[in-house]
Amino acid sequence: MTDYKTSRRVVMAGFGTGLTALAMPALASGDAQPARKLGYAIVGLGYYATQQIMPQFVGCEHARLTALVSGTPEKLERYGAQYGIPKTHRYNYSNFDSIRDNPDIDIVYVVLPNSMHAEYTIRAAQAGKHVMCEKPMAVSVAECEAMISACSKAGKKLMIGYRCHFEPYNLHAIALAKSGDFGPTRIITAEHGFNAKPDQWRLERPLSGGGSLMDIGIYSLNATRYLTGEEPVEVMAMESTDRSDPRFTSVEDRIDFMLRFPSGILANCVSSYSSNHNAYRVTGTKGWVGMEPATSYSGQRMSVNLQGEIHQVTLPFSPKTQFAAQLDHLPQAIASGIEPRTSGAEGLRDMRIIEAIYRSAAERRAITLTAK
Ligand code: NAD
Repeated sequence: MTDYKTSRRVVMAGFGTGLTALAMPALASGDAQPARKLGYAIVGLGYYATQQIMPQFVGCEHARLTALVSGTPEKLERYGAQYGIPKTHRYNYSNFDSIRDNPDIDIVYVVLPNSMHAEYTIRAAQAGKHVMCEKPMAVSVAECEAMISACSKAGKKLMIGYRCHFEPYNLHAIALAKSGDFGPTRIITAEHGFNAKPDQWRLERPLSGGGSLMDIGIYSLNATRYLTGEEPVEVMAMESTDRSDPRFTSVEDRIDFMLRFPSGILANCVSSYSSNHNAYRVTGTKGWVGMEPATSYSGQRMSVNLQGEIHQVTLPFSPKTQFAAQLDHLPQAIASGIEPRTSGAEGLRDMRIIEAIYRSAAERRAITLTAK
């Protein structure tokens, strides 16, 4: 393992493209800064909202937390008090639509079980609000299309919470893969999984829309797309689920898939609800760049192999977290009048491939994907 100085030298000597990308702001040239911090209403006060997202507003330049939506009065009371949200800005699912009358809410952030994403995104747009929606965007292509259409009709932006697009090591990996230093990319391996706890909505198909693929395998899929910058043209998948395990009566456990990209790159992807994985590797003709963990909340570790020598790469400390960068990006996109980097179209592309992966596993054959 190399020390920080050596790692940095490796980065600077060999991977200039990567450093440039790292220095790039969240938006490319032409981005306007919002005149004020835009207000977010968080819908669904579960683990991700309360433990990961809400504490991040403190690090935001363009976003602030202004409202809460929950079906549990005790949570509204507790988090309302903790974050200084007045009673007038606390909503439940019945009076949710009255957010239209609250000028302190610019953006609604949907952090609910997957099958509720479409309904609350569409209701938020109809109430005249921009929307940030968690991944997976919804549970079907049809729902994704309805969400895009509702936001477009309302003249509002729609962004999907793909936080890795704002995480410095992932951005660096993209730049390195593109730099040519490893030769043309040949193979990507991407593995994501965890051991799912029983008795939760993720294991109930009506709420989750599917198993590991919808929840965690989507990180393998999305990574192959951002690491190649290409859209896959063919998919082949295989599922393995122990239906005697009480966790897997309605959703899949493991579903691995291969993707073929137009340039000839192949991707081998793991998606699991019964084993822990968080890694990817992009291998070219001259070496590879790999990360483990790759898409975690923090603590990314990157290695590169060039001409047989393996180095660990440590990037300069970035004070802004991926969460704060994601929260700030939507206000910037709104002020700039551009599509967010992870727009509804991005979520829809993943969902089209997810549907094809399920079809491939069910029909035991390769599925051709058409560019859309
Ligand atoms: P969670 O179970 O902790 O929270 C879900 C919330 O929805 C709870 O507050 C629950 O009360 C509420 N809810 C409302 N109606 C419900 C119903 N009918 N059944 C169950 N819950 C209901 O889940 P979570 O881990 O916070 O996940 C929420 C969303 O965030 C999911 O779409 C998930 O994919 C996404 N997520 C994203 C990341 C990420 O890193 N981007 C991480 C975790 C979760």
